[in-house]
Amino acid sequence: MKIYLNGKFVEKKDAKVSVFDHGFLYGDGAFEGIRAYNRLVFKLEEHVERLYETSHTLMIDLKMTRKEMMKAIVDTLKANNLTDAYIRVVVSRGEGDLGLDPRKCFGNPNVIIIADKITLYPKELYNRGMEIITVPTVRNNPEAINPQLKSLNYLNNILAKIEANNSGFSEAIMLDHQGYVAECTGDNIFIIKNKVLSTPSQGRLKGITRETVLELAKKNKIETKECLMTRHEVYISDECFLTGTAAEIIPVVKVDGRIIGSGKPGPMTTKLIEMFHKVTRTDGTKY
Ligand SMILES: *Cc1c(COP(=O)(O)O)cnc(C)c1O
Repeated sequence: MKIYLNGKFVEKKDAKVSVFDHGFLYGDGAFEGIRAYNRLVFKLEEHVERLYETSHTLMIDLKMTRKEMMKAIVDTLKANNLTDAYIRVVVSRGEGDLGLDPRKCFGNPNVIIIADKITLYPKELYNRGMEIITVPTVRNNPEAINPQLKSLNYLNNILAKIEANNSGFSEAIMLDHQGYVAECTGDNIFIIKNKVLSTPSQGRLKGITRETVLELAKKNKIETKECLMTRHEVYISDECFLTGTAAEIIPVVKVDGRIIGSGKPGPMTTKLIEMFHKVTRTDGTKY
């Protein structure tokens, strides 16, 4: 496996950064998860844009242009001769001293690109649908750590994941700072009620898969809504599903013990999954 590390390709065993890296010491950095299907990188520009947006707010100067970053991602896929892949881009503030002051990091960020295969959930779960619960840990208050930042500081989501796991579930709903449904630990959430597709408008990351699903729905004359969402609305919905680059689109059939709709993946979810598979296999940056 060839890993991109600050402009060079190195073998996995040599892909190392300092224990003084502030990404390691403080979670001080940003990341992206990207997928390539059939030698097409899906939504490459959008992912790179979000990486630069997070880095901008964190005041991490990546010292490379968006174009150079896109080329580095594509080169990593080529170096590993991957047709289908999951790509993880990690940028950290870089090596500093033991204090948290970013000024001591000398402006040398680490840029890492790993391309590999990933299957998040077994295929059977996509056919049957998932059962999820709501967990006590609320999503970060936007004025503390804005959920729009795809930052290396992932403890908010990890604590929620631990709560889900402790109760025997693999994914969980997190509420926002006001008690509305925000998203899941690493995926956005959608519901369908009376043929209207809705997704939370606040407290969540603006997922690129989420945006793709909203686009596909609009193109196919499905009414869409971004709104405040309560758990009650989720419980009484006709269909529910989650979206994320790694998970893609996964149906949800039970939430907090309440059966959703028929208890099976619904027709609109199934249709959106089909459309998503089609668009990911035909659209993207060729390499
Ligand atoms: C990455 C991520 C998502 C999904 O976003 P995509 O761009 O669709 O991959 C959703 N929620 C959180 C917290 C995430 O980190």
